[in-house]
Amino acid sequence: MKVIKKEDTSNWGYKHTCTGCDTELLIEAKDVRHQRFDGDPREPGYDKYTASCCECSGQIIIPESKIPKILRVEIQNRTKRYSTSYFDR
Ligand SMILES: [Zn+2]
Repeated sequence: MKVIKKEDTSNWGYKHTCTGCDTELLIEAKDVRHQRFDGDPREPGYDKYTASCCECSGQIIIPESKIPKILRVEIQNRTKRYSTSYFDR
């Protein structure tokens, strides 16, 4: 398959001031982890994108709307791979 157009995410970053230590951070794609929460049958599940502050290890939640779709897919795939190898051990 040929890609005709794809959003360039190589310069993506999310600016965030950590609520735990007031450090201003630029979160990069590689820092982001994906978690999926399965809802019960009446409610849909939801996705959560998080990172850890490099200074205080506090959890940072990145709003889904701030992450380009293509990047979300990449992060999801990457996180899946990690969790698979975790279970293999
Ligand atoms: Zn912090």
